[in-house]
Amino acid sequence: VSRLANLWTELQSALAQGSRVFEITDMEEEKATVRDDGKKYGEMGTVSFEKVSFGYGSSDLVLSGVSFTIEQGKVTAFAGPSGSGKSTILNLLMAVYEPLAGNIDCDMGSMADIPPGEWRSRIAYVSQEPYLFSGTIRENIAWGRADADVSAVKEAARSAGIHSFIEGLPQGYETRIGERGLTLSGGERQRLAIARAFVREPEMLILDEPTAALDSQHEEMIQQALGKLMQGRTTVVVAHRLSTIRDANVIYYLENGSIVEAGNHESLMAEDGKYRAMVEKSVHHSENPHELAIEGGYL
Ligand code: ADP
Ligand code: MG
Repeated sequence: VSRLANLWTELQSALAQGSRVFEITDMEEEKATVRDDGKKYGEMGTVSFEKVSFGYGSSDLVLSGVSFTIEQGKVTAFAGPSGSGKSTILNLLMAVYEPLAGNIDCDMGSMADIPPGEWRSRIAYVSQEPYLFSGTIRENIAWGRADADVSAVKEAARSAGIHSFIEGLPQGYETRIGERGLTLSGGERQRLAIARAFVREPEMLILDEPTAALDSQHEEMIQQALGKLMQGRTTVVVAHRLSTIRDANVIYYLENGSIVEAGNHESLMAEDGKYRAMVEKSVHHSENPHELAIEGGYL
């Protein structure tokens, strides 16, 4: 009961913070389910938003009739000023909220007809601030995939570049973290989150890149691990790094809940529009030329 009470408290605080809900609900076992007609769901494939509108509570629309496509196996990036709706799109994509109007469609059918657990079982989310709970490192990596055995957890940690760090701890994978446990650095937390994503073997990877740069050594390890994780998977990223957005197959530039520009880096730079202005401004003003983040917050 006390464990449940703790979970509830964590859920409440997560709800207050808005963005962590998916990771929390993720704690339920998310297994593939069977459709009403007894068949198994197929691949998620390419996902398209069709005139999707959304608002929080009774306030104004945060997204107004946005349409776009997330191609299977490609990297789709979202950019735009702070408050333009990037995280909201991720929330809808993770089935944290439902559209007020419009439809989200994929090869499995309309998202409205697919059980949220089924949908989420195919997604891994690496957030800006990974949520870790009080428990062992092994439990944290296997989160939402209770059937993951120790060897799968270790394999995932290896891929995320955190295995030798964990093995170097006196209690290894059984080391407790969180309250009254070991405190991890930002880079270690990120790599644990990446290991957690590897365990899920997701069809779609959703990334909210950290705005604050990590130290360069960790940064490089994390970029390597992410590159490996993204390989062959549909990736959706809210990009804060110039290098990430440059490599994206498609970039959607948002403003006030609408997509105002779409293309890849080259085509958008040729357009001489808002995307180009953002990139030029950040290149001129940022101390770190790899960062898209600038004061005044384009992210
Ligand atoms: P971005 O990620 O591009 O900065 P968001 O999607 O977070 O933008 O926010 C879009 C708009 O929705 C903003 O005006 C923001 O204040 C509002 N918003 C975001 N989350 C919530 C929430 N949980 N409740 C109410 N309003 C929200
Ligand atoms: Mg955001």
